[in-house]
Parts: sequence; C-alpha cells; structure tokens
Amino acid sequence: MTSAETLPAYERDPYLRELSTRVIDVGTEKGRPFAVLEDTILYPEGGGQPPDFGLIGDVRVLDVRKQDGAVRHFTERAVGEGPCVVTLDWARRFDHMQQHTGQHLLSAVADARFGWETTAFHLGPEVCDVELAVKELGAEACVALEEAVAGEIRSARAVRPRRVSREEYAALAVRSRGLPDGHEGDVRLIEIDGVDLNTCGGTHLASTAELEAVALLGTESLRGGTRLFFVVGGRVRARLRDRESQAAGLRKILLAPDAGLVAAAEALSAKALLEAKNVERLTEQLAELVALELAGKPGSLVDWHGEGRDASFLSRVARTLSLTAKEKAAFLTARNPAGVLFLVVAGDGMPADVPAMGRAAAEVLGGRGGGSGRLFQGKAPGLDGREAALKRIEEIVSQITD
Ligand SMILES: [Zn+2]
Repeated sequence: MTSAETLPAYERDPYLRELSTRVIDVGTEKGRPFAVLEDTILYPEGGGQPPDFGLIGDVRVLDVRKQDGAVRHFTERAVGEGPCVVTLDWARRFDHMQQHTGQHLLSAVADARFGWETTAFHLGPEVCDVELAVKELGAEACVALEEAVAGEIRSARAVRPRRVSREEYAALAVRSRGLPDGHEGDVRLIEIDGVDLNTCGGTHLASTAELEAVALLGTESLRGGTRLFFVVGGRVRARLRDRESQAAGLRKILLAPDAGLVAAAEALSAKALLEAKNVERLTEQLAELVALELAGKPGSLVDWHGEGRDASFLSRVARTLSLTAKEKAAFLTARNPAGVLFLVVAGDGMPADVPAMGRAAAEVLGGRGGGSGRLFQGKAPGLDGREAALKRIEEIVSQITD
C-alpha cells in the first residue's frame, strides 16, 4: 500500500499552487537541465494529460516527466540542490483539470446512457477529443449527449480520488478495465459520485460544477468509430468570445446579420467565380486580337510586349499566330510581378530554327529557357536586352529568308 505521505503533492491536493520543498538531485538529459524534488505540485505528463508548467524559485519549468520512478523537472537553466519554493502555472493546470475531468464525465455519460464506449482521449492545446466506438453520431445524438452531460454538471457531483489494493480493484465495477503493463501496487481510482468509477493518475476537479460547461463541437469518422471534438469550461467561453468577434468582423464585411452570413458568403463566392470566368473569356479574346494584329503586320518577323501579362497569355498569342500567319516568326515578351518572360514562335511555313532563335534571345537577355520544334519559352532577369535580342533573331531570320 502506498501511504498518503509518499504520494506527490499534486496527487494529495491538486489545488495546491505553491509548495516549499527541496531540490534533491540535478542532472542533464540531452543537454536539458533537470531537477528532482523531494515533493512536487507539478504534474508529469501522463494518462493523456500534458505536463504542468511553473517555477522552481525564479527558474521556469518547461516540461515535467516521470523517469525511472523520479519526476524530472526540466528547467530553463540549471538550479542548485537545497531548499526551494515551487510555484504552479495555475491557469494552465486548471484548464487541464477542466478538460480532463470533463472527459471523464463525457465518457461516463456516453457509455452509461447511450452505450458509446470511449477508446481514446486527446487533450489538445485548443480542442480535446474522444474516440467513441459508434459508427455514426448525428447532430441530434450530439445534442442529446451534451444535454445529459449538462444535467450532471448542474447536479454538482463530487469527484473523489482514492487508492485501492489490487484485490479491492478486482471486486469493483470499474468502467475502463486494464492497467498499464508492469503496473505494481495499489490502483488509483477516480469516482464521480453516482456516475462513474474509473482508473486514472491525473489531476481532477473536486466537483462537476467546476466544469461550468461541456460543449460538443463536431465529429469525424475514424477507423469504424467516431471522433468527437469538445471543449470544457474556460475554453467554451474563450471560444464563444472568439466566434463572436469573428462574426462581428464578418457582419461588417458581408453586410449581413449573423443568420445571413453563410448565404452572403456563398453569394459572394458565386459572383467571384462568375467574374473569374468572364475575365478568362475576355483574356482569351484579347490574346486572339493581339495575334490577329501581329498577323496583319508586314515582314517575316514581328514582335510584341505585354506589360502585366503571364506565360499562358503569351502561349495563347503564339498559338493563334502560328495558325493564322504560318509564314511568320514572332518574338513575344511580358513582364509581371513574378518576372520577365519571353517566347519565340514560328509558323509551319517558316523554315526557321526556332530553338536556335530562342537560345540566341536567352543569351542576349541573360536568361534561360527551352523548347523544341516551333516554340521556345524562357525567363529573363530584365528587359534591358530586348532590342538587341530582337536584332539577333532578325539576323537569323534574314539568313533563312534571303
Ligand atoms: Zn483522470
């Protein structure tokens, strides 16, 4: 049997926020300094509950872990052996106690009233979830579960930890059976008066009234079961505060009341989609007009620059031009926030070595590119060499057409 004196302070009294004790051992693990204390109010990570933060003297505790039977407090910098005062980051701990005790109640009610057994629990920094052995959980079922949990919160049921021997444990109706491998000695139980009896080593509230509220957020299918997301207590209020502020922002942007926000956003999104399609059609028409204008110009080489245009626009111009002016070659450039682009193209009736023309342009522009057959595309650092590049292409074209 473990006597009360040998239990750590966080287990004897989870509401203790400050403790005078001693540093009895110090060391480093993977370069991180740690301290072992005679007694501690800082909970080491375990059973799905994250570690506490706090202070040893004025040195911050960044992580707490159980290792080889000792609780290692990993600190921001090394601390010395001897007497010390440990302070708990109470806001963080109380949040964990709310989420964790909330999960006990939620799992107990889901199991006892609805027959949905909990198979896993995660306490995240923002939301928590339990995995329930139920294929689907509809909106109505979620509301029924949330209502049943709220009833137990209103009943302000006492939550009590106790330790029992293995023999006593075997004779009790404990909800979640199964102790960790290698478990020795007595068993710690958490009882929610009249609702649940379960094994757990974590820190808990003294009454379900301190949960304030459990809010179910939504579900997700998972390995034949259902993951149910929830928040408890302070997180419910913080989340509601955030949502209210987001809704106020959206009301201003969408000029709609809360009830009309989704419809207003949908209408805006549909309008944007329609306009994007319209812009695409107009861009296609513009590319075609540019190509037809170039096709009407005299000479076997034409050139064009499109400020703000992109690669797909140049390709469209090139495609139309090569089909409508088969005896012409063209040197096209464009500049947009992403950089400078160039393109060399020739129609079927123009016996030009397009790759050679492209490579010449790339060299003069100080850029690079590639292509084969009738099209060469590239990128350049700037447009300074544009006139010179055009001249080089002209030379190559005139050798062919002479
Ligand atoms: Zn627990």
